[in-house]
Amino acid sequence: MLRVVVLGAAAGGGVPQWNCGCPVCLKARTDPELQSTQASIAISADGEHWFLVNASPDLRQQLIATPQLHPKGGRLRHSPIAGVILTNGEVDAVAGLLSMREGWPFTIYAHGKVLSILGDNSIFNVLNEKNVRRQPIEVDKAFEPALPDGSPSGIEILPFEVPGKSAWYLEGKTHPGGNASVGDTLGLRIGDKATGRYFYFLAACASVTDDLKSRLAGAPLIFFDGTVWRDDELIAAGLGTKTGQSMGHIAMSGDGGAIGSLAGLDIGQKMFLHINNSNPALLHDSAERKMAERAGWQIPADGTEITL
Ligand SMILES: [Zn+2]
Repeated sequence: MLRVVVLGAAAGGGVPQWNCGCPVCLKARTDPELQSTQASIAISADGEHWFLVNASPDLRQQLIATPQLHPKGGRLRHSPIAGVILTNGEVDAVAGLLSMREGWPFTIYAHGKVLSILGDNSIFNVLNEKNVRRQPIEVDKAFEPALPDGSPSGIEILPFEVPGKSAWYLEGKTHPGGNASVGDTLGLRIGDKATGRYFYFLAACASVTDDLKSRLAGAPLIFFDGTVWRDDELIAAGLGTKTGQSMGHIAMSGDGGAIGSLAGLDIGQKMFLHINNSNPALLHDSAERKMAERAGWQIPADGTEITL
C-alpha cells in the first residue's frame, strides 16, 4: 500500500506570499482555507518510514502539521523520514534541507546536476555527509530508496527527463554541474513494488510532449505542474516580468496548456501542484477553478492523504 501526503501545493512564495498584495494573497491572509505551503509530498510503503519528494522552505511548518512525520516511539531523537528525493534545484525544492540539520541520518537522492548545486553552496555542509548521504540518481534508471538499516523500502522510483529549465538563480551563470540540459527537471514515476500501484509526480514541466502523454496515459494518479493559469499571468497582473514558459512552467489553460493536453488520457486522479499565488484557480469560487474541476482536476489542500 502506497501512502502519499501532500505537504504543500503552492509554488515558490507560498500562499500568501510575504510581499504580495494580489487578490489571492489578500484573501488568503484572512482565510486559512486558501493558505498553502510550498510544494512537497511525503510517500511511504510501510506507513512507518517516509520519503520526501522535494524539501520546501516551509518544511519545518509542514512537519509540525503532519503527525505521520512526527518522532515516534518515545525516543529522544527520531524521525520517520528516511530520505529526500529532489526533482530540481530551485529554492522551493531544496531550501528545506537546511531545516533537517539536527543530526538525523537520511539520504538525499538527486541527479548529479542538482547534487552539484548542493556541493557548490557551502551552506549545505550543515548536512554532515557522515550522516546525510548524497546519492546520485540517473534519468531512466529506476532505483529503490533504502530504509535506515539499508533494507529495501518497497518503493520503486523511475526518474525521467521532462521539458524544463535550470534553477532560475543560475540563469546566465555557469551551472556548477555543467551546461548539459539533462537532469535539471525530473518527473518521477513512484510505485509500490508489492502491489504494482503507482503515480506520477511532475512539479515542473514546460510542455506536454507526445512521449509524456503516452507515459501518463492510464495512470491512477498524477501530480502535475499548476504554476500559472495562463502563460502571461504575472505580467498581466503587474506582478512580474516573466511568463510561465520563461520559468519552465506550462500554463493550466489555453492551447498547449495542461488541462487540454492531458484530457482524454484515462488518468484516475489529476491533482495540480506547485500553484503560484497569482493563479485565480486557487480561489474556490472562481470561474477558473470551476473550469479546472469540470475537467477533472483537483487542487489539494495541505495535509491531504491519498492511499494507492
Ligand atoms: Zn500573491
